[in-house]
Amino acid sequence: MTGGVLVVGGGVIGAATAYFLAARHGVRATVLEREPTYRRASSALSASSIRQQFSTEINIRLSQASLDFYRRIGDELAVDGTRPGIGLTERGYLFLATAAGVDTLRANHAVQQACGARVSLLQPAALQARLPWLNVNDVAAGSLGEDGEGWFDGYSVLQAFRRKAIALGAAFESADVERVGGDDGRIAHVRCVDGRCFEGDALLIAAGAWSAPLAAQLGYDLPVRARKRDVFVLASPAELPGCPLVIDPSGVWFRPEGRGFIAGCPPRGDDADDAPLDAIDHGLFDDVIWPALAQRVPAFEALRVTAAWAGYYEYNTFDQNGIVGRLPGHAEAFIGCGFSGHGIQQAPAVAQALAELITRGRYDTLDLAPLSPQRIVERRPLLERNVI
Ligand SMILES: Cc1cc2nc3c(=O)[nH]c(=O)nc-3n(C[C@H](O)[C@H](O)[C@H](O)COP(=O)(O)OP(=O)(O)OC[C@H]3O[C@@H](n4cnc5c(N)ncnc54)[C@H](O)[C@@H]3O)c2cc1C
Repeated sequence: MTGGVLVVGGGVIGAATAYFLAARHGVRATVLEREPTYRRASSALSASSIRQQFSTEINIRLSQASLDFYRRIGDELAVDGTRPGIGLTERGYLFLATAAGVDTLRANHAVQQACGARVSLLQPAALQARLPWLNVNDVAAGSLGEDGEGWFDGYSVLQAFRRKAIALGAAFESADVERVGGDDGRIAHVRCVDGRCFEGDALLIAAGAWSAPLAAQLGYDLPVRARKRDVFVLASPAELPGCPLVIDPSGVWFRPEGRGFIAGCPPRGDDADDAPLDAIDHGLFDDVIWPALAQRVPAFEALRVTAAWAGYYEYNTFDQNGIVGRLPGHAEAFIGCGFSGHGIQQAPAVAQALAELITRGRYDTLDLAPLSPQRIVERRPLLERNVI
């Protein structure tokens, strides 16, 4: 590959792919990023948590492989002897189920166990013994990750991939791509809003929530939209020893962050495309999140919201899973987006596999065929029950 790879979008997927192209294959990427401050990038606004508690093998394998990478990221991405720190905290996820959800919890647990994930299915009494601060009155069972789950600093991950990729020869350009594909039929050719053009041997669309208009120019109808998700920062004197990331049966989640907690839940009503990021739905906290938190953790009685932020899920409206691989009908065009809330935890494994596909035409580490863009064309959804 003499001309290298053009990557549109320098978020975690684009930056990590640039790193793996250089580190494992000696191939140079030119990464085109229109907002180098990452003001609106999902990777900078993420809750950055990682779990093995999915219901499909491919999602579990992706998170396991990525966790391995995150555990050794200091060695992998050190630049000039400086090892990046990402604050990886492995304290598990706890999925709680009422009687109505127990069968699903058990079915998911069976898949997780078959993949070697250390997840315990616990009855209410056992939950209460492990986490005395948790109200389990209405809980029928819970599944708790015993290791390999937790959270980290997503922005540090993004910057670590970017720095190391640059150290290995990748170029990051401040560039707003408006056109992919040249008039003469060359696909790895892009034109930017300021008139600059870039060429390569292959093209990767990694533009997150903004990928669909680019894919459309190559004739691919990408079902990915920008869907706002609010995160609330909470101060509370509550001491919750061993607190994991808790997923309440109501859909509300919370986890420790610094000296306090963060929390969120799916939006109410219309999940509109492109809702402005500064329009935080504070009523969502008052009407939905707060009652669920107070019910689940009595010690949250004294709790206040100190801040809030929102970012876009690059939401795959077809089946809420990543869309990764070669774009149908184009040998040199690839895509990696649509992870719908589980992208930053899968980024290392996805990027490593994408780099293999782009340079060698095949997957060597993990077979990402289940995430193929072709499944959208063939209307074959990948059904994942644990989408948060
Ligand atoms: C509130 C929130 C909570 C989340 N929680 C989790 C979690 O707990 N765990 C998890 O795994 N994931 C989580 N996610 C999802 C995760 O953050 C994303 O899946 C991941 O960051 C996507 O990375 P990306 O590189 O595809 O997209 P982005 O980080 O958005 O990067 C895409 C980049 O492309 C650039 N771009 C777009 N169009 C163009 C163009 N035309 N020209 C040039 N550049 C362009 C953008 O500026 C952007 O920087 C969360 C997301 C949000 C918003």
